[in-house]
Amino acid sequence: MEKVLNYIGGELVPAAGGQWLDKPEPATGQLYAHVPDSREVDVQSAVEAAGRAFPAWAALPAIERSRFLRRIAGLIHERLDAFARAESIDTGKPLAVARTVDIPRSVLNFEFFADAATQFSSEAHPMDGVALNYTLRSPLGVVGCISPWNLPLYLLTWKIAPALAAGNCVVAKPSEVTPMTAYLLSQVCRDAGLPPGVLNLVHGLGPHVGGPLTRHPDVSAISFTGSTRTGAEIARVAAPAFKKLSLEMGGKNPNVIFADCDFDEALATTLRSSFANQGQICLCGPRIFVQRSLYPRFKEALVARTRALKVGDPLVEGTDQGALVSREHFEKVMGYIALAKQEGGNILTGGQRASVPGRCANGWFIEPTLVEGLAPTCRTNQEEIFGPVATLMPFDDEEEVLSWANSTRYGLAGSVWTKDLTRAHRFASRLHSGIVWVNTWMLRDLRTPFGGVKESGVGREGGWDALRFFTEPKNVCIKL
Ligand code: NAD
Repeated sequence: MEKVLNYIGGELVPAAGGQWLDKPEPATGQLYAHVPDSREVDVQSAVEAAGRAFPAWAALPAIERSRFLRRIAGLIHERLDAFARAESIDTGKPLAVARTVDIPRSVLNFEFFADAATQFSSEAHPMDGVALNYTLRSPLGVVGCISPWNLPLYLLTWKIAPALAAGNCVVAKPSEVTPMTAYLLSQVCRDAGLPPGVLNLVHGLGPHVGGPLTRHPDVSAISFTGSTRTGAEIARVAAPAFKKLSLEMGGKNPNVIFADCDFDEALATTLRSSFANQGQICLCGPRIFVQRSLYPRFKEALVARTRALKVGDPLVEGTDQGALVSREHFEKVMGYIALAKQEGGNILTGGQRASVPGRCANGWFIEPTLVEGLAPTCRTNQEEIFGPVATLMPFDDEEEVLSWANSTRYGLAGSVWTKDLTRAHRFASRLHSGIVWVNTWMLRDLRTPFGGVKESGVGREGGWDALRFFTEPKNVCIKL
Protein backbone atom coordinates (compact mmCIF):
# COMPACT_ATOMS: atom_id res chain seq x y z
CA MET A 1 0.00 0.00 0.00
CA GLU A 2 1.47 3.37 -0.99
CA LYS A 3 1.67 6.12 1.64
CA VAL A 4 1.41 9.79 0.80
CA LEU A 5 3.12 12.17 3.25
CA ASN A 6 2.77 15.85 4.04
CA TYR A 7 5.63 18.19 3.08
CA ILE A 8 6.15 20.64 5.92
CA GLY A 9 9.29 22.70 6.61
CA GLY A 10 11.19 20.60 4.05
CA GLU A 11 10.32 17.28 5.75
CA LEU A 12 8.05 14.49 4.54
CA VAL A 13 5.85 13.70 7.52
CA PRO A 14 2.54 11.99 8.39
CA ALA A 15 -0.31 13.96 9.97
CA ALA A 16 0.59 14.87 13.56
CA GLY A 17 -2.45 12.95 14.85
CA GLY A 18 -1.44 9.82 12.92
CA GLN A 19 -4.81 9.50 11.11
CA TRP A 20 -5.04 8.34 7.48
CA LEU A 21 -7.61 8.50 4.70
CA ASP A 22 -8.17 5.63 2.26
CA LYS A 23 -7.47 6.32 -1.39
CA PRO A 24 -9.00 3.93 -3.95
CA GLU A 25 -7.96 3.58 -7.61
CA PRO A 26 -10.91 4.80 -9.74
CA ALA A 27 -10.31 2.27 -12.53
CA THR A 28 -10.55 -0.73 -10.19
CA GLY A 29 -12.36 0.51 -7.09
CA GLN A 30 -9.52 -1.07 -5.05
CA LEU A 31 -7.78 0.71 -2.19
CA TYR A 32 -4.21 1.52 -3.20
CA ALA A 33 -2.89 4.32 -0.97
CA HIS A 34 -3.21 6.03 2.38
CA VAL A 35 -3.28 9.83 2.62
CA PRO A 36 -2.60 11.92 5.75
CA ASP A 37 -5.87 12.97 7.36
CA SER A 38 -4.35 16.27 8.50
CA ARG A 39 -5.92 18.76 10.90
CA GLU A 40 -5.46 22.31 12.14
CA VAL A 41 -2.26 21.41 13.98
CA ASP A 42 -0.61 20.36 10.69
CA VAL A 43 -1.78 23.55 8.98
CA GLN A 44 -0.33 25.51 11.90
CA SER A 45 3.09 23.82 11.49
CA ALA A 46 3.02 24.49 7.75
CA VAL A 47 2.09 28.17 8.14
CA GLU A 48 4.85 28.62 10.75
CA ALA A 49 7.41 26.94 8.46
CA ALA A 50 6.33 29.16 5.58
CA GLY A 51 6.53 32.25 7.80
CA ARG A 52 10.09 31.36 8.84
CA ALA A 53 11.16 30.81 5.22
CA PHE A 54 9.55 33.97 3.88
CA PRO A 55 12.11 36.74 4.66
CA ALA A 56 15.00 34.93 2.95
CA TRP A 57 12.90 33.74 -0.01
CA ALA A 58 11.43 37.20 -0.61
CA ALA A 59 14.92 38.74 -0.39
CA LEU A 60 16.36 36.45 -3.08
CA PRO A 61 16.90 38.16 -6.44
CA ALA A 62 14.13 37.16 -8.87
CA ILE A 63 16.67 35.38 -11.05
CA GLU A 64 17.56 33.07 -8.11
CA ARG A 65 13.92 32.19 -7.46
CA SER A 66 13.55 31.64 -11.17
CA ARG A 67 16.44 29.12 -11.11
CA PHE A 68 14.69 27.09 -8.40
CA LEU A 69 11.50 26.98 -10.46
CA ARG A 70 13.48 25.87 -13.51
CA ARG A 71 15.16 23.11 -11.49
CA ILE A 72 11.74 21.88 -10.32
CA ALA A 73 10.43 21.96 -13.90
CA GLY A 74 13.49 20.02 -15.08
CA LEU A 75 13.07 17.28 -12.47
CA ILE A 76 9.36 16.83 -13.23
CA HIS A 77 10.27 16.57 -16.91
CA GLU A 78 12.95 13.95 -16.16
CA ARG A 79 10.39 11.94 -14.16
CA LEU A 80 7.56 12.47 -16.65
CA ASP A 81 6.72 8.78 -16.98
CA ALA A 82 6.45 8.26 -13.22
CA PHE A 83 4.35 11.41 -12.82
CA ALA A 84 2.05 10.48 -15.71
CA ARG A 85 1.50 6.96 -14.42
CA ALA A 86 0.77 8.25 -10.92
CA GLU A 87 -1.69 10.83 -12.28
CA SER A 88 -3.47 8.24 -14.40
CA ILE A 89 -3.81 5.72 -11.56
CA ASP A 90 -4.92 8.40 -9.10
CA THR A 91 -7.57 10.03 -11.31
CA GLY A 92 -8.66 7.28 -13.73
CA LYS A 93 -7.71 9.43 -16.74
CA PRO A 94 -6.03 7.75 -19.73
CA LEU A 95 -2.26 7.51 -19.31
CA ALA A 96 -1.80 9.19 -22.71
CA VAL A 97 -3.72 12.26 -21.46
CA ALA A 98 -1.59 12.51 -18.34
CA ARG A 99 1.57 12.06 -20.43
CA THR A 100 0.69 14.60 -23.12
CA VAL A 101 -1.44 17.15 -21.25
CA ASP A 102 -1.31 17.13 -17.45
CA ILE A 103 2.38 16.63 -16.76
CA PRO A 104 3.89 18.63 -19.67
CA ARG A 105 1.61 21.53 -18.74
CA SER A 106 2.75 21.31 -15.10
CA VAL A 107 6.37 21.56 -16.30
CA LEU A 108 5.38 24.52 -18.45
CA ASN A 109 3.68 26.27 -15.51
CA PHE A 110 7.00 26.32 -13.64
CA GLU A 111 8.98 27.30 -16.74
CA PHE A 112 6.53 30.04 -17.70
CA PHE A 113 6.56 31.68 -14.27
CA ALA A 114 10.33 31.19 -13.95
CA ASP A 115 10.60 33.45 -17.00
CA ALA A 116 7.83 35.78 -15.87
CA ALA A 117 9.55 36.34 -12.51
CA THR A 118 12.52 37.88 -14.27
CA GLN A 119 10.38 40.02 -16.62
CA PHE A 120 7.81 41.36 -14.13
CA SER A 121 8.16 45.12 -13.96
CA SER A 122 6.21 47.96 -12.46
CA GLU A 123 4.51 51.15 -13.55
CA ALA A 124 5.58 54.80 -13.28
CA HIS A 125 3.17 57.75 -13.53
CA PRO A 126 5.02 61.06 -14.08
CA MET A 127 2.88 64.15 -13.27
CA ASP A 128 4.00 66.69 -15.86
CA GLY A 129 7.13 67.85 -14.03
CA VAL A 130 5.30 68.15 -10.66
CA ALA A 131 5.92 64.70 -9.24
CA LEU A 132 6.79 61.15 -10.14
CA ASN A 133 4.74 58.19 -8.99
CA TYR A 134 6.06 54.70 -9.14
CA THR A 135 4.52 51.43 -7.96
CA LEU A 136 6.38 48.98 -5.79
CA ARG A 137 5.09 45.40 -5.78
CA SER A 138 5.99 43.23 -2.79
CA PRO A 139 5.13 39.62 -2.12
CA LEU A 140 2.21 39.08 0.25
CA GLY A 141 3.92 36.71 2.69
CA VAL A 142 2.37 33.30 3.34
CA VAL A 143 -0.36 32.41 0.85
CA GLY A 144 -2.75 29.45 0.62
CA CYS A 145 -3.41 27.51 -2.61
CA ILE A 146 -6.35 25.08 -2.70
CA SER A 147 -6.88 22.89 -5.77
CA PRO A 148 -9.34 20.29 -7.15
CA TRP A 149 -9.03 16.72 -8.47
CA ASN A 150 -9.73 17.01 -12.18
CA LEU A 151 -6.28 18.21 -13.33
CA PRO A 152 -4.44 17.67 -10.07
CA LEU A 153 -0.82 18.64 -10.73
CA TYR A 154 -1.66 20.99 -13.61
CA LEU A 155 -3.95 23.20 -11.49
CA LEU A 156 -1.87 22.96 -8.31
CA THR A 157 1.27 24.16 -10.11
CA TRP A 158 -0.71 26.87 -11.95
CA LYS A 159 -1.07 28.51 -8.51
CA ILE A 160 2.15 27.50 -6.76
CA ALA A 161 4.48 28.63 -9.57
CA PRO A 162 3.34 32.30 -9.73
CA ALA A 163 3.05 32.51 -5.94
CA LEU A 164 6.66 31.37 -5.49
CA ALA A 165 7.91 33.37 -8.46
CA ALA A 166 6.52 36.56 -6.89
CA GLY A 167 8.42 35.84 -3.66
CA ASN A 168 5.70 34.35 -1.45
CA CYS A 169 5.91 31.19 0.61
CA VAL A 170 3.08 28.73 0.07
CA VAL A 171 0.93 26.35 2.04
CA ALA A 172 -0.94 24.28 -0.52
CA LYS A 173 -3.80 21.87 -0.06
CA PRO A 174 -4.17 19.41 -2.94
CA SER A 175 -7.46 17.58 -3.38
CA GLU A 176 -7.77 14.63 -1.01
CA VAL A 177 -9.30 12.73 -3.95
CA THR A 178 -6.06 12.90 -5.99
CA PRO A 179 -3.00 13.50 -3.77
CA MET A 180 -0.33 11.41 -5.49
CA THR A 181 1.39 13.79 -7.91
CA ALA A 182 1.47 16.52 -5.25
CA TYR A 183 3.40 14.02 -3.13
CA LEU A 184 5.80 13.37 -6.04
CA LEU A 185 6.17 17.15 -6.37
CA SER A 186 7.26 17.41 -2.74
CA GLN A 187 10.00 14.85 -3.44
CA VAL A 188 11.06 16.88 -6.48
CA CYS A 189 11.25 20.06 -4.38
CA ARG A 190 13.53 18.33 -1.87
CA ASP A 191 15.76 17.06 -4.68
CA ALA A 192 15.81 20.54 -6.25
CA GLY A 193 17.14 21.95 -2.97
CA LEU A 194 14.19 24.30 -2.47
CA PRO A 195 14.78 25.91 0.95
CA PRO A 196 12.66 24.28 3.70
CA GLY A 197 9.29 25.94 4.26
CA VAL A 198 9.15 27.82 0.95
CA LEU A 199 6.53 25.34 -0.26
CA ASN A 200 4.45 23.20 2.08
CA LEU A 201 1.83 20.64 1.05
CA VAL A 202 -0.76 19.56 3.59
CA HIS A 203 -3.04 16.67 2.61
CA GLY A 204 -6.50 15.95 3.98
CA LEU A 205 -10.17 16.87 3.83
CA GLY A 206 -11.45 20.31 2.84
CA PRO A 207 -13.04 21.26 6.17
CA HIS A 208 -10.06 19.83 8.15
CA VAL A 209 -7.25 21.45 6.15
CA GLY A 210 -8.70 23.98 3.69
CA GLY A 211 -10.89 25.50 6.43
CA PRO A 212 -8.07 26.19 8.93
CA LEU A 213 -5.85 27.42 6.09
CA THR A 214 -8.52 29.90 4.95
CA ARG A 215 -9.11 31.10 8.52
CA HIS A 216 -5.46 31.36 9.55
CA PRO A 217 -4.59 34.98 10.46
CA ASP A 218 -1.06 34.68 9.05
CA VAL A 219 -2.25 33.61 5.58
CA SER A 220 -2.78 36.76 3.53
CA ALA A 221 -4.33 35.36 0.36
CA ILE A 222 -6.22 32.31 -0.84
CA SER A 223 -6.10 31.15 -4.42
CA PHE A 224 -8.81 28.53 -4.91
CA THR A 225 -9.98 26.35 -7.78
CA GLY A 226 -12.94 24.05 -7.24
CA SER A 227 -16.71 24.03 -6.99
CA THR A 228 -18.84 27.15 -6.64
CA ARG A 229 -20.21 25.83 -3.36
CA THR A 230 -16.77 25.54 -1.77
CA GLY A 231 -15.74 28.90 -3.27
CA ALA A 232 -18.71 30.55 -1.58
CA GLU A 233 -17.72 28.99 1.76
CA ILE A 234 -14.13 30.19 1.36
CA ALA A 235 -15.32 33.71 0.50
CA ARG A 236 -17.59 33.70 3.56
CA VAL A 237 -14.66 32.85 5.84
CA ALA A 238 -11.93 34.91 4.16
CA ALA A 239 -13.79 38.14 3.35
CA PRO A 240 -14.21 39.42 6.96
CA ALA A 241 -10.45 38.92 7.45
CA PHE A 242 -9.84 41.04 4.30
CA LYS A 243 -7.71 38.40 2.61
CA LYS A 244 -7.01 38.63 -1.09
CA LEU A 245 -9.11 36.04 -2.90
CA SER A 246 -8.90 34.44 -6.32
CA LEU A 247 -11.76 32.01 -7.01
CA GLU A 248 -11.92 29.76 -10.08
CA MET A 249 -15.15 27.80 -9.91
CA GLY A 250 -17.75 25.81 -11.83
CA GLY A 251 -19.01 26.14 -15.38
CA LYS A 252 -21.71 25.04 -17.79
CA ASN A 253 -20.12 26.23 -20.98
CA PRO A 254 -21.97 26.72 -24.26
CA ASN A 255 -20.65 25.39 -27.56
CA VAL A 256 -22.42 27.30 -30.35
CA ILE A 257 -22.20 25.86 -33.85
CA PHE A 258 -23.50 27.94 -36.75
CA ALA A 259 -24.38 26.30 -40.07
CA ASP A 260 -21.50 28.05 -41.85
CA CYS A 261 -18.81 26.47 -39.65
CA ASP A 262 -15.99 24.24 -40.85
CA PHE A 263 -17.92 21.02 -40.28
CA ASP A 264 -15.02 18.60 -39.77
CA GLU A 265 -13.16 20.90 -37.35
CA ALA A 266 -16.29 21.69 -35.38
CA LEU A 267 -17.17 18.01 -35.13
CA ALA A 268 -13.75 16.77 -34.07
CA THR A 269 -13.32 19.57 -31.53
CA THR A 270 -16.84 19.17 -30.13
CA LEU A 271 -16.08 15.51 -29.47
CA ARG A 272 -13.07 16.63 -27.42
CA SER A 273 -14.79 19.52 -25.68
CA SER A 274 -17.59 17.17 -24.63
CA PHE A 275 -15.58 14.17 -23.45
CA ALA A 276 -11.92 15.06 -22.82
CA ASN A 277 -10.89 13.80 -19.38
CA GLN A 278 -14.33 12.10 -19.16
CA GLY A 279 -15.95 15.55 -19.36
CA GLN A 280 -14.25 16.53 -16.10
CA ILE A 281 -12.64 19.77 -17.27
CA CYS A 282 -14.08 23.09 -16.13
CA LEU A 283 -13.70 24.32 -19.74
CA CYS A 284 -15.68 21.47 -21.33
CA GLY A 285 -18.70 22.53 -23.41
CA PRO A 286 -21.54 20.23 -22.40
CA ARG A 287 -24.31 22.42 -23.89
CA ILE A 288 -24.05 21.97 -27.66
CA PHE A 289 -26.24 24.36 -29.66
CA VAL A 290 -26.38 23.61 -33.42
CA GLN A 291 -28.13 25.78 -36.02
CA ARG A 292 -31.23 23.95 -37.22
CA SER A 293 -30.23 23.49 -40.87
CA LEU A 294 -27.03 21.71 -39.79
CA TYR A 295 -28.54 19.89 -36.82
CA PRO A 296 -29.47 16.48 -38.38
CA ARG A 297 -26.11 16.03 -40.10
CA PHE A 298 -24.10 17.20 -37.09
CA LYS A 299 -26.07 15.05 -34.68
CA GLU A 300 -25.67 11.92 -36.76
CA ALA A 301 -21.92 12.42 -37.13
CA LEU A 302 -21.38 13.31 -33.46
CA VAL A 303 -23.33 10.27 -32.28
CA ALA A 304 -21.26 8.01 -34.54
CA ARG A 305 -17.96 9.53 -33.31
CA THR A 306 -19.09 9.29 -29.68
CA ARG A 307 -20.03 5.61 -30.07
CA ALA A 308 -16.56 4.94 -31.47
CA LEU A 309 -14.80 6.27 -28.35
CA LYS A 310 -13.06 3.42 -26.54
CA VAL A 311 -13.87 3.26 -22.84
CA GLY A 312 -11.25 1.15 -21.13
CA ASP A 313 -8.36 0.61 -18.72
CA PRO A 314 -6.65 4.03 -18.40
CA LEU A 315 -3.24 2.36 -18.40
CA VAL A 316 -3.81 0.63 -21.74
CA GLU A 317 -2.63 2.40 -24.88
CA GLY A 318 -5.57 3.33 -27.15
CA THR A 319 -8.09 4.03 -24.38
CA ASP A 320 -10.03 7.25 -25.11
CA GLN A 321 -12.20 7.34 -21.99
CA GLY A 322 -11.03 6.30 -18.53
CA ALA A 323 -12.86 6.08 -15.22
CA LEU A 324 -14.62 8.84 -13.30
CA VAL A 325 -12.59 10.05 -10.36
CA SER A 326 -14.54 8.56 -7.44
CA ARG A 327 -17.57 6.50 -6.52
CA GLU A 328 -19.34 9.65 -5.23
CA HIS A 329 -18.73 11.46 -8.48
CA PHE A 330 -19.77 8.42 -10.54
CA GLU A 331 -23.06 8.34 -8.61
CA LYS A 332 -23.59 12.07 -9.04
CA VAL A 333 -23.16 11.83 -12.82
CA MET A 334 -25.40 8.72 -13.08
CA GLY A 335 -27.98 10.72 -11.08
CA TYR A 336 -27.87 13.48 -13.69
CA ILE A 337 -28.40 10.95 -16.49
CA ALA A 338 -31.50 9.75 -14.65
CA LEU A 339 -32.61 13.37 -14.24
CA ALA A 340 -32.12 14.02 -17.98
CA LYS A 341 -34.46 11.11 -18.72
CA GLN A 342 -36.99 12.31 -16.15
CA GLU A 343 -36.93 15.76 -17.71
CA GLY A 344 -37.88 14.22 -21.05
CA GLY A 345 -34.43 13.83 -22.59
CA ASN A 346 -33.81 11.29 -25.30
CA ILE A 347 -30.53 9.42 -24.85
CA LEU A 348 -28.91 9.32 -28.29
CA THR A 349 -25.99 7.19 -27.15
CA GLY A 350 -24.51 6.05 -23.83
CA GLY A 351 -26.46 6.60 -20.64
CA GLN A 352 -25.19 3.48 -18.84
CA ARG A 353 -22.36 2.37 -16.63
CA ALA A 354 -19.66 1.11 -19.02
CA SER A 355 -18.39 -2.37 -18.38
CA VAL A 356 -14.66 -2.82 -18.70
CA PRO A 357 -13.73 -6.47 -18.20
CA GLY A 358 -10.66 -7.78 -16.37
CA ARG A 359 -8.87 -5.76 -13.68
CA CYS A 360 -11.25 -2.82 -14.22
CA ALA A 361 -14.51 -4.77 -13.78
CA ASN A 362 -15.38 -2.78 -10.62
CA GLY A 363 -14.16 0.61 -11.84
CA TRP A 364 -16.27 3.75 -12.12
CA PHE A 365 -16.77 3.98 -15.89
CA ILE A 366 -19.65 5.71 -17.68
CA GLU A 367 -20.43 5.50 -21.39
CA PRO A 368 -19.98 8.85 -23.15
CA THR A 369 -23.54 10.14 -23.30
CA LEU A 370 -25.41 12.47 -25.66
CA VAL A 371 -28.92 13.68 -24.88
CA GLU A 372 -31.39 15.64 -27.01
CA GLY A 373 -34.91 16.95 -26.59
CA LEU A 374 -34.29 19.04 -23.46
CA ALA A 375 -35.18 22.70 -22.96
CA PRO A 376 -32.20 25.05 -22.33
CA THR A 377 -33.82 26.01 -19.02
CA CYS A 378 -34.14 22.53 -17.47
CA ARG A 379 -31.89 21.46 -14.60
CA THR A 380 -29.82 19.15 -16.81
CA ASN A 381 -28.93 22.18 -18.92
CA GLN A 382 -28.42 24.59 -16.03
CA GLU A 383 -26.43 22.61 -13.43
CA GLU A 384 -22.83 21.52 -13.69
CA ILE A 385 -22.62 17.74 -14.24
CA PHE A 386 -18.83 17.57 -14.76
CA GLY A 387 -18.92 14.18 -16.48
CA PRO A 388 -19.18 12.55 -19.92
CA VAL A 389 -22.67 13.91 -20.58
CA ALA A 390 -23.51 16.54 -23.21
CA THR A 391 -26.83 17.80 -24.56
CA LEU A 392 -27.66 18.74 -28.16
CA MET A 393 -30.10 21.55 -28.92
CA PRO A 394 -31.13 23.07 -32.28
CA PHE A 395 -31.44 26.86 -32.63
CA ASP A 396 -32.79 29.17 -35.31
CA ASP A 397 -30.96 32.46 -35.01
CA GLU A 398 -28.21 34.33 -33.25
CA GLU A 399 -30.40 36.23 -30.73
CA GLU A 400 -32.10 33.04 -29.60
CA VAL A 401 -28.90 31.08 -29.07
CA LEU A 402 -27.18 34.01 -27.36
CA SER A 403 -29.94 34.24 -24.77
CA TRP A 404 -29.77 30.47 -24.15
CA ALA A 405 -25.98 30.51 -23.97
CA ASN A 406 -26.14 33.31 -21.37
CA SER A 407 -28.97 31.75 -19.37
CA THR A 408 -27.00 29.90 -16.65
CA ARG A 409 -25.58 31.24 -13.40
CA TYR A 410 -22.12 30.37 -14.71
CA GLY A 411 -19.83 32.19 -17.14
CA LEU A 412 -16.46 30.55 -17.48
CA ALA A 413 -15.84 29.80 -21.17
CA GLY A 414 -17.63 29.35 -24.49
CA SER A 415 -16.91 28.29 -28.06
CA VAL A 416 -18.41 29.76 -31.22
CA TRP A 417 -18.12 28.10 -34.62
CA THR A 418 -18.71 30.26 -37.71
CA LYS A 419 -16.86 31.49 -40.81
CA ASP A 420 -18.62 34.85 -40.56
CA LEU A 421 -16.00 37.07 -38.97
CA THR A 422 -18.37 39.87 -38.08
CA ARG A 423 -20.73 37.50 -36.33
CA ALA A 424 -17.80 35.87 -34.49
CA HIS A 425 -16.67 39.21 -33.03
CA ARG A 426 -20.22 40.29 -32.22
CA PHE A 427 -21.08 37.02 -30.53
CA ALA A 428 -17.81 36.88 -28.59
CA SER A 429 -18.36 40.36 -27.17
CA ARG A 430 -21.92 39.55 -26.07
CA LEU A 431 -21.26 36.19 -24.43
CA HIS A 432 -21.28 36.40 -20.60
CA SER A 433 -18.03 34.58 -20.15
CA GLY A 434 -14.42 35.09 -19.06
CA ILE A 435 -13.04 33.19 -22.07
CA VAL A 436 -14.34 32.84 -25.64
CA TRP A 437 -12.89 30.57 -28.30
CA VAL A 438 -13.76 31.15 -31.95
CA ASN A 439 -13.41 28.07 -34.16
CA THR A 440 -11.36 26.27 -31.53
CA TRP A 441 -11.44 25.06 -27.92
CA MET A 442 -8.98 25.04 -25.04
CA LEU A 443 -6.24 26.70 -27.04
CA ARG A 444 -4.27 28.36 -24.25
CA ASP A 445 -1.67 31.10 -24.14
CA LEU A 446 -0.48 31.31 -20.53
CA ARG A 447 -0.08 35.11 -20.77
CA THR A 448 -3.84 35.67 -21.21
CA PRO A 449 -6.25 36.36 -18.32
CA PHE A 450 -7.91 33.12 -17.22
CA GLY A 451 -11.10 33.03 -15.18
CA GLY A 452 -14.84 33.37 -15.14
CA VAL A 453 -17.72 35.76 -14.53
CA LYS A 454 -20.94 35.31 -12.52
CA GLU A 455 -20.72 32.20 -10.32
CA SER A 456 -17.72 30.86 -12.24
CA GLY A 457 -15.22 33.08 -10.54
CA VAL A 458 -13.71 36.21 -9.11
CA GLY A 459 -10.30 37.39 -10.29
CA ARG A 460 -8.04 36.15 -13.07
CA GLU A 461 -5.08 33.79 -13.22
CA GLY A 462 -2.30 33.64 -15.81
CA GLY A 463 0.50 35.97 -16.90
CA TRP A 464 0.79 39.33 -15.15
CA ASP A 465 -2.67 38.86 -13.59
CA ALA A 466 -1.31 36.03 -11.44
CA LEU A 467 1.81 37.96 -10.44
CA ARG A 468 -0.29 41.01 -9.59
CA PHE A 469 -2.59 38.88 -7.47
CA PHE A 470 0.34 37.47 -5.52
CA THR A 471 1.86 40.92 -4.84
CA GLU A 472 0.73 44.03 -3.01
CA PRO A 473 1.15 47.33 -4.90
CA LYS A 474 2.37 50.43 -3.13
CA ASN A 475 2.45 53.84 -4.79
CA VAL A 476 5.38 56.11 -4.00
CA CYS A 477 4.89 59.78 -4.93
CA ILE A 478 7.98 62.02 -5.15
CA LYS A 479 7.55 65.75 -5.54
CA LEU A 480 10.03 67.03 -8.09
P1 NAD B 1 -14.36 21.03 -4.40
O1 NAD B 1 -14.87 22.41 -4.25
O2 NAD B 1 -15.11 19.92 -3.78
O3 NAD B 1 -12.87 20.91 -3.81
C1 NAD B 1 -11.83 21.75 -4.25
C2 NAD B 1 -10.80 21.86 -3.13
O4 NAD B 1 -11.38 22.58 -2.03
C3 NAD B 1 -10.35 20.51 -2.57
O5 NAD B 1 -8.97 20.55 -2.29
C4 NAD B 1 -11.17 20.42 -1.29
O6 NAD B 1 -10.61 19.57 -0.33
C5 NAD B 1 -11.17 21.86 -0.84
N1 NAD B 1 -12.24 22.19 0.13
C6 NAD B 1 -13.42 21.57 0.31
N2 NAD B 1 -14.12 22.18 1.31
C7 NAD B 1 -13.36 23.21 1.75
C8 NAD B 1 -13.54 24.22 2.74
N3 NAD B 1 -14.64 24.28 3.47
N4 NAD B 1 -12.57 25.14 2.90
C9 NAD B 1 -11.47 25.12 2.13
N5 NAD B 1 -11.22 24.17 1.19
C10 NAD B 1 -12.17 23.24 0.99
O7 NAD B 1 -14.17 20.80 -5.97
P2 NAD B 1 -13.76 19.45 -6.71
O8 NAD B 1 -14.94 18.53 -6.68
O9 NAD B 1 -12.44 18.99 -6.18
O10 NAD B 1 -13.50 19.97 -8.20
C11 NAD B 1 -14.49 20.05 -9.19
C12 NAD B 1 -14.97 21.48 -9.33
O11 NAD B 1 -13.87 22.32 -9.65
C13 NAD B 1 -15.95 21.67 -10.46
O12 NAD B 1 -17.00 22.49 -10.02
C14 NAD B 1 -15.15 22.39 -11.53
O13 NAD B 1 -15.89 23.19 -12.40
C15 NAD B 1 -14.23 23.20 -10.70
N6 NAD B 1 -13.05 23.58 -11.48
C16 NAD B 1 -12.94 24.89 -11.87
C17 NAD B 1 -11.84 25.29 -12.63
C18 NAD B 1 -11.67 26.72 -13.08
O14 NAD B 1 -10.58 27.08 -13.50
N7 NAD B 1 -12.69 27.56 -13.01
C19 NAD B 1 -10.87 24.35 -12.98
C20 NAD B 1 -11.04 23.03 -12.56
C21 NAD B 1 -12.13 22.66 -11.80
